[in-house]
Amino acid sequence: MLPTKFTERLKKIVPAEEYEQVLETFHQPKETTFRLNPLKTDEERLLKELCEAGLHPEPVDWMPGAFHIPSDERRALTESDAFYEGRLYIQNLSSMLAPLLLDPRPGERILDLAAAPGGKTLMIAGMMEDRGWISAVEPVKERFHRLRRNQERAGTTIVHTYNRDGRGVGRAVPESFDRVLLDAPCSSEAKFSTLKPQSYAYWSARKIRESQKLQKRLILSAFDALKPEGTLLYSTCSFAPEENEAVVDFLLDKHPDRVEILPIEVPLKNLQKGFTYWEKKTFDSALSKTLRILPDNKMDGFFLAKLQKL
Ligand code: SAM
Repeated sequence: MLPTKFTERLKKIVPAEEYEQVLETFHQPKETTFRLNPLKTDEERLLKELCEAGLHPEPVDWMPGAFHIPSDERRALTESDAFYEGRLYIQNLSSMLAPLLLDPRPGERILDLAAAPGGKTLMIAGMMEDRGWISAVEPVKERFHRLRRNQERAGTTIVHTYNRDGRGVGRAVPESFDRVLLDAPCSSEAKFSTLKPQSYAYWSARKIRESQKLQKRLILSAFDALKPEGTLLYSTCSFAPEENEAVVDFLLDKHPDRVEILPIEVPLKNLQKGFTYWEKKTFDSALSKTLRILPDNKMDGFFLAKLQKL
């Protein structure tokens, strides 16, 4: 059973008419989605390869290069040559939104400040046609090695990996990147599943507070590392406003007149506007331009904020 405190909070966060449906998603397995790696294959070749292996992928109409497969084919997908040899990467559609909205261009300098296992780094490298520079930072040794293995398997050449704490990066390389992705470490509430009780075994209000403390330091570092006019994409897989709107609001407070929240457009229905208040705290009214993805049978819950340095 999900922690009662968590569901009580969720009830206040999610629109009342969606609550039961959202709650149900924590008890169901998610549909498997994946993305082709344009550095190693193209749609025609990958589909032919997967069909020959007995799989039935269907394209996702709003996300270029993304596909879903029937849930009983997940195992065969993870045992396919295409998976082992890095021609595809299994990733939730919500996660794909962060690089899509970051919108990196070939030749740019990009910082991925919390990068492992590296699915978003890899998508960024693909969008950049493997031209330019990506610094990918991950402090946890084991996760760092996984990040490296995933980039090697995918055949990227522009990803430079750093096993260090993201909090010091802005100070070390100020105003150096055209775009920064901060897919922040968080309480991972959107990954909770009653099929895996371990996923919420360590959740607590304290965990949210600790995550927020780290996120505030990381967003300042991300902002410092960004060139003027640069774009910062902040995302989490948490529902907690303390880890989402409150962190972006903190950045706005620290740098008044230097941050603009950009509007986000995505062709989806399972959306909710960012909050402008939570419990006793009021946030900047521009926080309504941030976006919350409500979970469904395909997508994880997610928070996205797109910011520009003025
Ligand atoms: N962006 C990744 C992807 O798409 O594969 C997922 C990132 S995950 C949400 C957050 C990551 O931040 C974790 O790998 C975690 O180890 C890392 N992290 C934790 N503390 C950090 C810190 N102080 N600086 C940078 N990254 C940190």
